Parts: sequence; structure tokens; C-alpha cells
Amino acid sequence: MKILVLNCGSSSLKYQLIDMDGENVLAKGLCERIGIEGSNLAHSPAGGAKHTVVSPMEDHSDAIRLVMDALTDPERGVIASTGEIDAIGHRVVHGGEAFAGSVAITDEVIKAIEDVSGLAPLHNPPNLTGIAACKAVMPNVPQAAVFDTAFHQSLPEKAYLYAIPYELYEKYKIRRYGFHGTSHRYVSERAAAMLGKDAKDLKIITCHLGNGGSVAAVDGGRSVDTSMGFTPLEGLAMGTRSGDIDAAVIPYIMDKEGVSAGGAVSILNKKSGVLGLSGVSSDFRDIESAADGGNARARAALDVFLYRVAKYVGAYAAAMNGVDAVVFTAGLGENSAQTRKAVCSYLGFLGLTVDDERNAQRGGEFVFSTDGSKVAALTIPTNEEIVIARDTAELFA
Ligand code: AMP
Repeated sequence: MKILVLNCGSSSLKYQLIDMDGENVLAKGLCERIGIEGSNLAHSPAGGAKHTVVSPMEDHSDAIRLVMDALTDPERGVIASTGEIDAIGHRVVHGGEAFAGSVAITDEVIKAIEDVSGLAPLHNPPNLTGIAACKAVMPNVPQAAVFDTAFHQSLPEKAYLYAIPYELYEKYKIRRYGFHGTSHRYVSERAAAMLGKDAKDLKIITCHLGNGGSVAAVDGGRSVDTSMGFTPLEGLAMGTRSGDIDAAVIPYIMDKEGVSAGGAVSILNKKSGVLGLSGVSSDFRDIESAADGGNARARAALDVFLYRVAKYVGAYAAAMNGVDAVVFTAGLGENSAQTRKAVCSYLGFLGLTVDDERNAQRGGEFVFSTDGSKVAALTIPTNEEIVIARDTAELFA
């Protein structure tokens, strides 16, 4: 069975074609600047060289057609015809309270995704555009939606309710949803497999630390708390997002800076985090090298970031009344030994001890706690695409 995995942004489309017999990625690529001048597609067949096609793409349907051309190209293609694609799996950011798992896309599902689009105005509309484009270009291929929020629908009420008038939850569905669910699900399942245990018997804290970041508490295989909230703004300090902040700061910024509510939230989303604190960059590699070079604000930005990750791990150990494993994933979690070590240095009270040699490994999955550590520490590269492909394959098997 061959599954096409799609992640559609407002002007971009990321794809992977995965052969589920052996779970091999046959090709992957990215269309950028869709609807903008200079649109292009970068296509990488497995084992072959990356190939860039510069071609106008007015909309996502044009992009899908170009992807199909690339996949079936006699020289660089990986399939003989689009008829070989058995199903399409879409990453959809927000499923609201309607979806606690992946679903086959029907007209009712599209309507339900539209209904919660107000909760993710930057993400759900392009996800829907991608679904419509596939329907137009490949009307007979079944499609599935895999939601970023679904894994966190198991949060108990005490974790998802904000302490605001209950009617605001009832009327507007203002509550914690959480994001990066597919990633937290994947790495928590892998952690259980690597430890040779059943996920049902484990309390795992997963730290997705990339440009956006979130921590999740996974008890018995179910997400019971997570740091992102109503939107991805809450929780950790991130590349450009403030994370947790006193809500009263927002009207204060509006007043002092003469900006609208949207303007103030935009400052918190786009100009804050380690970028805002350091004034150097939103990229953690730049921040780490500036801090190592003696830049005090870059050091402060890193300290704020690391301290908050550690606080969430401590809070979730309390929330679950224990923790068996802490997992690090995404750009920074997978690649920065320095970050892992610094977070774990706060966690000695849990009985977590790091083996520096193991932590210095690069690439792939590994345990980096000592043999005697009471809590296991693991690095696991995330793979949201394979989860989307597996769910899609299961729905249409
Ligand atoms: P992601 O959003 O998962 O792609 O992660 C992107 C972030 O990971 C960027 O801020 C990168 O700077 C950071 N990152 C990637 N590799 C490293 C590394 N070796 N050391 C520190 N940060 C890294």
C-alpha cells in the first residue's frame, strides 16, 4: 500500500510518498511560494539527487499536479502512475473537541474541520485547501485527516479547563487543546518500545523542542497534560513565542505601545521567545553560539528556555505522581546534547543521571541516562509522517 502524506501550509505543501510494505519513504519534497511569484518544487527521490522545478503554482491544485508529475516522471519519478497511490493522509492542525483520533475525510468531516477553523485561522484553512485540491486532482483516492490536537483529547477536565467563567468554555470552547500531538504520541510509543515495556505501564514526559516547543505528560499511553493551550502560544519559551505570560501584560503592551490586541499578540507570537530576549536570532544554534561567545542576553534567553522546560518536567512528574522516562525530540531535542544535559541537570532530585558519553551521540534513537538512573532519558527523532501514513493505511486497509 502506498500512502501520500501531505502537510499543507498557506503557501507551502510538504509531501512524502511512503510504501507501507517496509515503511520505506519513496520520495519526499516541498512546494514553496504557492500563489506567489517564484513558486518552486524541491523533489527528492529515495537514493536520488534533489531536483528543483521552478514553475508557476497559482494554487494548491497546481502544486498537487506538479507533485504528481514529479512522482511519475520517467527519469526521477518513483511510481509509474498516480493510480499507484492508494490513499492520502493529511496533517490537520486543529480538530477541536470533535476529533480524538484520525478519520476518513467525508463532507461531514470537512464541515467539522471548517467549524473549528476559527481556533486555528492560520493552519486549518490551508489544510482544507489541500484536501479540496486532492479531491479535484485525484477524486477517487481516499483521504484521511490526522490531527495535531487528537492525542491530547484524553486530557482530564482538570488539565484542560482554564479557571475562567465556565460559560466562556461552553460558548466559545476556550480550553487547553495542546499541539504536536502526533509527535508526542510517536516518541512516547517509541520510548516504551526502546525500554522493552508496554506503554500502559509507563509514565513518560515528552519534550518536543524545536522552533516551536511543548512538553507532554503521557500516563499509560494517554496524554494527561501538555504545555501548549488554546493556541500554540502557551507553555515553553520558544524561538519567537513568549510561552506562559500574565494575561494582564497584553492590555499593558497595547496601552504603552499603542497597538491593537492583535498587535500585542503578534509581538508575543513573533517577536518574543529567545529571539525577543536575545535580540540575536530565533534559531537555537545562533543563540547557543552567541551565549558560548559571551553574549549575556543570549545566555539569559537560553537560561529562561531551559529553566521553563525543567519546570514543566517537574510539574508533570507531580501531575503523574512519578515519571519513568523523559524523552527529547525535534530539532533541538534531537541534536543539542548541551540542551539535554542542561535540562537534565535540574532533574537530579528525580534520580535522573546523565551518561555524558551516551549523550554526546549524534543521530538516531538512544538512551543517554546512566545504567543506575532511576528515570530513563532518551533521544528519539520524531516522525510525524509515519504516524500519519500508518493511521491512513489502517483506515483504508
Ligand atoms: P524544528 O522546529 O524541529 O525543525 O527545530 C528547529 C530548531 O532546532 C532550530 O532553532 C535549530 O536551531 C535547532 N537545532 C537544530 N540542530 C541543532 C543543534 N545541533 N544544536 C542546537 N540547536 C539545533
